[in-house]
Amino acid sequence: MGKVYLVGAGPGDPELLTVKATRLLARAGIVLHDSLVSREVLQLIARQAAVIDVGKRCGQKLLTQDEINSLLVSAANKHDVMIRLKGGDPLIFGRAGEEIEALRTAGVDFEIVPGITAALGAAAAAGISLTDRRAASQIVISTFSRGTEGAQTDWGAITNTTTLALYMPGPDYAEVAHRLRQGGLPDDLPCVIVSNATGTAQQIRWTSIARLAHEEKLPAPALMIVGRVASHKVQEISKAFWRDGTNDRDVPYNTVS
Ligand code: SAH
Repeated sequence: MGKVYLVGAGPGDPELLTVKATRLLARAGIVLHDSLVSREVLQLIARQAAVIDVGKRCGQKLLTQDEINSLLVSAANKHDVMIRLKGGDPLIFGRAGEEIEALRTAGVDFEIVPGITAALGAAAAAGISLTDRRAASQIVISTFSRGTEGAQTDWGAITNTTTLALYMPGPDYAEVAHRLRQGGLPDDLPCVIVSNATGTAQQIRWTSIARLAHEEKLPAPALMIVGRVASHKVQEISKAFWRDGTNDRDVPYNTVS
């Protein structure tokens, strides 16, 4: 009986993988991965390993969560190292809870290997300190509640010293702005949209809740960092430091020998 590793692939840049994740990918017998995992990270998987994409294509799920859970359990019987590879960190919006439950119920040995979650990759890319003793003492990692119709996100925990990392904001920025306002956030609050953080197609847009509805949509995956930590001053410093306003990878990964 092998072991299942729930591994975080980080936000895109393969150099942001942990040493442990890199080592495990090179030893894997089988890898089940999400569509968010970057091509460069997938290239680090052992040649002999079976690689299965269990993610979504054009909104269509390739495998249901129940099918993934059973596959995890059955593959552990056949391979010493079975990897469930997820974008970012497996424990943030990664459905790891359901998979952990299935593995525990089936008595399968498993281990969780953390990864850099998208909000941290995005903050680093934009040069934003998510906490700042002058502006923010807490971070809320959130997304709009889905499923139950009409369900409202409870923004009760958001104060004027909170940085909000909003995952899966969706393409309707007018709706996002509306919901943020409904939650009591002021119009002039800075909001930064980061698309493909740390990946080769990274884009950063500095805006505010008031201007959000009129911004051009950035491609998925994208998230928003909302709060005073993304002030105009921070933007100016960030732009002056990284000429095009993005903290680009200075050495293209494939040129590193
Ligand atoms: N487990 C992942 C999150 C999965 S939910 C993590 O820890 O990062 C998927 C959402 O994550 C996307 O809709 C987007 O909001 C965000 N995301 C993932 N990768 C991203 C990236 N490289 N840049 C910006 N947002 C990203």
